[in-house]
Amino acid sequence: MSNCSFPHLIDLNNYPVSAWDRITDLAIDIKRNPRIYIGACSGRIMATLFYEPSTRTQMSFQAAMLRLGGGIIGFDNPNNSSVAKGESIKDTAKIVSSYSDIVVMRHFLEGASKAAALTSDCPIVNAGDGGHLHPTQTLTDLLTLKAEKGTLSGLTVGFCGDLKNGRTVHSLLKALSCYENNKFVFISTEELKVPDYIKDIVRAAGKRYSEINNLEDAIPELDMLYMTRIQQERFSSAEEYQKQKHVFCLDEKKMQLAKKDMIVMHPLPRVDEIAVSVDGDPRALYFKQANYGMYVRMSLVLSVLYENIDAKPLIVGREYPNVCCRNPKCISNHETSLPHIFRENNGVLECEYCDGRQISN
Ligand code: ASP
Repeated sequence: MSNCSFPHLIDLNNYPVSAWDRITDLAIDIKRNPRIYIGACSGRIMATLFYEPSTRTQMSFQAAMLRLGGGIIGFDNPNNSSVAKGESIKDTAKIVSSYSDIVVMRHFLEGASKAAALTSDCPIVNAGDGGHLHPTQTLTDLLTLKAEKGTLSGLTVGFCGDLKNGRTVHSLLKALSCYENNKFVFISTEELKVPDYIKDIVRAAGKRYSEINNLEDAIPELDMLYMTRIQQERFSSAEEYQKQKHVFCLDEKKMQLAKKDMIVMHPLPRVDEIAVSVDGDPRALYFKQANYGMYVRMSLVLSVLYENIDAKPLIVGREYPNVCCRNPKCISNHETSLPHIFRENNGVLECEYCDGRQISN
């Protein structure tokens, strides 16, 4: 377990809240004065390793680096790389990090970026690890809120859709729980509720939340509505997905029930959970949000490469060689060479990779 000293961004909580604020403030400046930053990353290389599909995250990171004058390498189809020959994340990260200055990685398994960070020779940025976390989407979301609502505090935020598998929801909830007087309304079916471990974090931060299965009832009190797609790729069967899809749809009629200054955000892609007719409503900010994503990633790259971010230690737990994480989607159950690392929290062991609590001997 070496190389933990880089400012890896695996979970936004790896960085202090003051760093989130600096990164979003810098992004606002870059958006206003883009010329100043041309060439700021000249001679630097970013690797983007995408083991799972992406449009916005991958391209906005690449555009960010190109706009800063840096270069990019990487893959978006692991089958064209040595992954197809059976290479582990550990080995891929070791090699690619020796060719680059920053590695941005998306993977379908939870905890994969943290596993990569354990051997990486440069900072790793988690661009989404399965249904777990998506910290750079959260930076995008914080920037959008800051720029469009003028605050990150005192907000009533509704989260609607697949709150169980939506990694953007998990990361944003953890982040908004760190700001004063926010409260949350979780709008989902019984099957797709926010995981308990995230609710515990929200509660521990002293924030209130309610759970409801009806968007019409929730919408009038919201300052921001965060719509999400039902995450088809995380379901174990097509039947289960069929039961969940198209339960929630934001349309013009529901928008009439909302406050005049409520904003609608969505990490995108949209499937059918927002009617296209809502796009013209000035409160629909999801396309603008995607554009903020590029500026915040420019800011993040600059901060990781040139600032002294006071990142928390990558690993706080210790090795338990005989304990296995029970989450079948956890990277530790797929890369057998990884050390089994757990944190102890009130007598419960939590997996360092996926935050899963259910462990067995
Ligand atoms: N683009 C987001 C993600 O990668 C949201 C989604 O895919 O639904 O998690």
